[in-house]
Amino acid sequence: MVRAVFFDFVGTLITKAGENVTHLNIVREVLKKAGRGDLNAEEVWRAYEAESSALFSELAGKEAVKIRDVDTEAMRRVAENYGFTVPEDFWEISIRMHEEYGQLFPDALDTIRVLKDMSLHVGIITDSDNDYITAHLKALGIYELFDSITTSEEAGYFKPHPRPFQLALEKAGVKAEEALYVGDNPKKDCVGAKSVGMISVLLDPSGEKRALWENCDFVVSSLSEVVEIVRGLKS
Ligand code: CA
Repeated sequence: MVRAVFFDFVGTLITKAGENVTHLNIVREVLKKAGRGDLNAEEVWRAYEAESSALFSELAGKEAVKIRDVDTEAMRRVAENYGFTVPEDFWEISIRMHEEYGQLFPDALDTIRVLKDMSLHVGIITDSDNDYITAHLKALGIYELFDSITTSEEAGYFKPHPRPFQLALEKAGVKAEEALYVGDNPKKDCVGAKSVGMISVLLDPSGEKRALWENCDFVVSSLSEVVEIVRGLKS
């Protein structure tokens, strides 16, 4: 019996394409503020993404640190290479650009609504700072839809550590086997959810993560398919 469905955020409820546009606009804003409009924003953005993913890959499953500190450090390293200074209000710029450019998957809203109409607990489990996820969800107009939001900041650990998943289950008051976790990262989302006994669903629209599908209980190419999985498990 499924009683709760939890979602990852970036790449699951909001698109990676939208996230790329957001990050590029953060870089543009940073360069403008730093008086370095002469630099190629796309090139600096690629350097920022590389620094950022290198830093985050070392942090998977570890004790959580503030994302704002990691993002700021990634930008600081890029700034050092390109010869500019990161503006004092970097994190405020980052949140503002996420609010402006974040983009929900087209079927995200309908999927959440249908699941809620089925009287399920619908929550988020995300490697995020609290201020970031709150601002972002409010800007998307979906903050009120969620019964619970569990962040790495609150849980004290990054996925795939079991703690964020356990904390979300405690909030929902459901057993692990009664809960689905939907994410786009086989190693963090599927492995983390399964480690506590939750049912894991991988969102892989293009099938590019096929080599890692074995980490997940279900693989879907769109969010709306999650409803079918829940109906199948309920009956
Ligand atoms: Ca994700």
